[in-house]
Amino acid sequence: MKKLSLSQLPALFAAIAEKETLYLPVDAEGGARFERFTEGKTLTGELNTVRSAKDFFFPQTENLAEFKMEGKNIEVIDPRTETEDFVVFGVRACDARSFSILDKVFLVDPVDTYYKNRREHGTIVSLACTRPHETCFCQTFGIDATDPEGDVTAWKTDDAIYFEAKTEKGDRLLANLSDLIEEADDTAVKEQKEAVKKVMDRLPLKSLTTEGFGGDVMMEKFNAPEWKSLSEACLGCGTCTFVCPTCQCYDIRDFNTGHGIKRFRCWDSCMYSDFTKMAHGNPRTSQLERFRQRFMHKLVYFPANNEGEFGCVGCGRCLAKCPISMNIVKVMRTLGGKKA
Ligand code: SF4
Ligand code: SF4
Repeated sequence: MKKLSLSQLPALFAAIAEKETLYLPVDAEGGARFERFTEGKTLTGELNTVRSAKDFFFPQTENLAEFKMEGKNIEVIDPRTETEDFVVFGVRACDARSFSILDKVFLVDPVDTYYKNRREHGTIVSLACTRPHETCFCQTFGIDATDPEGDVTAWKTDDAIYFEAKTEKGDRLLANLSDLIEEADDTAVKEQKEAVKKVMDRLPLKSLTTEGFGGDVMMEKFNAPEWKSLSEACLGCGTCTFVCPTCQCYDIRDFNTGHGIKRFRCWDSCMYSDFTKMAHGNPRTSQLERFRQRFMHKLVYFPANNEGEFGCVGCGRCLAKCPISMNIVKVMRTLGGKKA
């Protein structure tokens, strides 16, 4: 394990940014968000960012291709420029797990090369949680907030920050910082983990379980009469999908710039009435069907297709942001699982 005095954190950020682009969560109007590091920017004291870290690999909008036409000739241009290595610092355990969920979507055949390219160039430095919120329930999905996944895991104590490399990429990053960081034993980290686990044991959603969900209850859950009352007040605003680190619906459109065609991809939401609209119409014509789709996908379809892994990481963002206070916890409490 490596250690750095907290007073040296700006020097560490500067050293990383000298070699690669560095992103870190900073305070901003409306809540913390990831920004590119420049001198003077400091790590937020907030637990998590308003928007998740998925933008780094699956951005809200991206240009996929351009087409130039001259007579009957069409030139296809690949506009990708994401060839530089980058580091994302301060990713919480929930968001760190979301990457392995997104990998199961974008890195299976046919591989999404745009996503793959960014995954290959990105190094994740995750940051263990010290003050979980009452909306956190990552432990429901087997995530340890005190020991997050990532290329490097970091633990911040009152006076120092500790690092442990977990992948080859992580080893390389720490090797480049050897002038700043020193060897340390893990006593302080172990003590912090124990203290935070006690806090997590008292969280209001501690007893929420996935009991009653999974791939083998598909028709029972699909036909449950409770979807009607659960979905009744949903505004179909899509906020829950846009703040969610694991939601991965998108739309692809062509746009005529006047000088050619740009094909772009942007996030979409299964909560929208025109989502997956096709020539024959929309397969889900009511808000009940759209609402049911979002939660069936996370709690039943995704585990059915991915060896039991659920499509939620318990980050709590949808609990905090839904304007009508509807969320996945209420769905889990109503349709299965232990009442939390
Ligand atoms: S469904 Fe809600 S709690 Fe689960 S990962 Fe998405 S935003 Fe977070
Ligand atoms: S569940 Fe809430 S956040 Fe999601 S679409 Fe409905 S009203 Fe909007």
